Amino acid sequence: IKPIAEFYANNILKPAPPAKVRRKHDPALLERVSLYQGDITKVDVDAVVNAANRSLLGGGGVDGAIHAAAGPKLYDECRELNGCSTGESKITKGYNLPARHVIHTVGPVYSTRDKEEKAEQLASCYKTSMQLAVENTIRHVAFPSISTGIYSYPIVDATRIALDTVRTFIESEEGAKIERVIFVVWSNKDKEVYESLIPEYFPPG
Ligand code: ADP
Repeated sequence: IKPIAEFYANNILKPAPPAKVRRKHDPALLERVSLYQGDITKVDVDAVVNAANRSLLGGGGVDGAIHAAAGPKLYDECRELNGCSTGESKITKGYNLPARHVIHTVGPVYSTRDKEEKAEQLASCYKTSMQLAVENTIRHVAFPSISTGIYSYPIVDATRIALDTVRTFIESEEGAKIERVIFVVWSNKDKEVYESLIPEYFPPG
């Protein structure tokens, strides 16, 4: 899985971003972020993030895939956790996954009422997941596109929140120990959205 610096070098990411947000160019950050299309249960990293629900007892989408691949011991450990609030995160082992840990985070169920609150909760998912990673000396974290499946958060808005929150965290003192964040997308559409927005948040120069 290559860092986005190589995406720019190979013209996979186009360097002319729409100047809506436009964060500062920082070459070091381009080595710390990746975009990968595929199955998050196959990604060999310190931790994969699970888009869980408040029960932490499994569900559909990426949650179902992670539990199926990790095996029943993941369910047993999750049962001991007594659920998790929206916007918060909890960590378990990865069991049969190639990833050593799973960080379970609970995204908001989208609705156009309380937009502001939903956005804060989604940002909090990314932030609390990365905080847990740092606390557990996890250096490489893979995120799915939280809340954008069954929980129907609009993909463009959700991707902006993901990119903004990750950038802010990994360039903060607290996030300095995170060496790599991998955004894992499943669909072509989601991949296109990430490809179009990454240059705004991680400009090539
Ligand atoms: P939520 O309930 O938070 O909306 P979902 O699991 O329904 O979570 O969807 C989150 C995102 O994960 C969606 O973009 C979906 O396409 C994607 N997804 C589903 N299965 C996988 C997988 N195995 N690996 C990576 N992403 C996946």
